[in-house]
Amino acid sequence: MADSTPPTHSSAHPPPDRPVYVIGGGPGGLSAAYALRARGIRAVVLEKSDHVGSSWRGHYDRLHLHTTRRLSSLPGLPMPRRFGRWVSRDDVVRYLEKYAEHHRLEIVTGVEVSRVEHAPDGTGWLLHATGGRELTGAAVVVATGYNHTPRVPDWPGRDTYTGEFLHACAYRNAEPFAGREVLVVGAGNTGAEIAVDLADGGARVRLSIRTVPHIVRRSTAGWAAQYSGVMARHLPVGLVDRMARQMGRLSVPDLSAHGLPRPGTGLYTRVTEGAVPVQDVGLIDAVRKGRVEVVAAVEGFEDGKAVLADGTRLSPDAVVAATGYTRALEGLVGHLDVLDARGRPVVQGPRSPRTAPGLYFTGFTNPISGMLREMAIDAVRIAKAIARDGSGRVSRLPG
Ligand SMILES: Cc1cc2nc3c(=O)[nH]c(=O)nc-3n(C[C@H](O)[C@H](O)[C@H](O)COP(=O)(O)OP(=O)(O)OC[C@H]3O[C@@H](n4cnc5c(N)ncnc54)[C@H](O)[C@@H]3O)c2cc1C
Repeated sequence: MADSTPPTHSSAHPPPDRPVYVIGGGPGGLSAAYALRARGIRAVVLEKSDHVGSSWRGHYDRLHLHTTRRLSSLPGLPMPRRFGRWVSRDDVVRYLEKYAEHHRLEIVTGVEVSRVEHAPDGTGWLLHATGGRELTGAAVVVATGYNHTPRVPDWPGRDTYTGEFLHACAYRNAEPFAGREVLVVGAGNTGAEIAVDLADGGARVRLSIRTVPHIVRRSTAGWAAQYSGVMARHLPVGLVDRMARQMGRLSVPDLSAHGLPRPGTGLYTRVTEGAVPVQDVGLIDAVRKGRVEVVAAVEGFEDGKAVLADGTRLSPDAVVAATGYTRALEGLVGHLDVLDARGRPVVQGPRSPRTAPGLYFTGFTNPISGMLREMAIDAVRIAKAIARDGSGRVSRLPG
């Protein structure tokens, strides 16, 4: 196992041909690469799949951004007006392709980085990648995604369930489920939207909820919920909780009779615990009309049936686990003492962990103001930090 203490940098000067490596060709990695390039620093994006924006290519058909086009654009290239206010999945992919091309980013696809270590000469970072590659970079930006690895709870008896079982990441559209009973587990934005999509597509849908989510209108009289999110970032949590409670009472009907009471914990308090509110793209209406039936949390499976927290047993034809993702950073950087107990980087954006100067992370929070917006801001800040910390000096672009 490699030593996790950083070698001293005091006397060593890195050779002048080392780029900054950016791990991941999603919006976070592409925007960081652009911002570095804009400062004349050579950045090479390493992407494990065959294309940029691979996460977006895999999302379900119906998906549109719930953040506005303007507040979701990456630095150096706005999304075109013709994409509309709420940009579709396919247009997000088009935009990311165009972004890489427009800025002439240096991207190597089909390369997965498995481990990042201090370079043996103490002047940068050694990356272990696909095919035994060893790459040495002046600095590293980790942009491998908040939604990296699908997470499915370790439900007891799951192997007794013989119906179709899939994680939300494998869901595309309702077509294969028309006329069937489907249990969607988890009421984050993904579970809520998939439940509505299934109901629209003719499935009989139940939505299993452990913790009642906050639901907000995506837009009220032209005012996007994201605008409130951006403003809320600078206000005290208690104040935002109170304001959100008032707003919620005015704009969202009481759905207690349908199994969706108003949450006991404040909206922003929940955000600080990692749960962003659900943007309504049809759930309120579907629940009110009984097209989506809210049921208790899944506790496990027994004799092929789903067992709920209130004792109910269900035999759906299919279960869609919209139960989130893990960051899965342990193998990549866990040995560098840069992750907290939940597996998230101890610092992000323009700050490097104390034990790992020159190592940066982007995209590992789920902010109320929109992740794309925050990654766009962080990209510029990270590039500035790299230009300042000295690693930028060794990776200048020619000319
Ligand atoms: C369903 C859904 C809807 C969302 N909607 C919005 C929205 O409306 N507005 C908003 O602001 N945010 C939204 N987000 C959140 C966020 O903006 C997106 O997840 C965004 O794609 C995150 O960008 P990223 O670059 O951090 O990660 P990703 O887009 O996941 O990109 C990470 C890239 O890294 C590559 N990779 C991973 N590991 C390695 C490795 N070891 N080596 C090399 N390459 C690697 C992956 O193949 C991938 O291409 C949404 C997220 C989801 C899941």
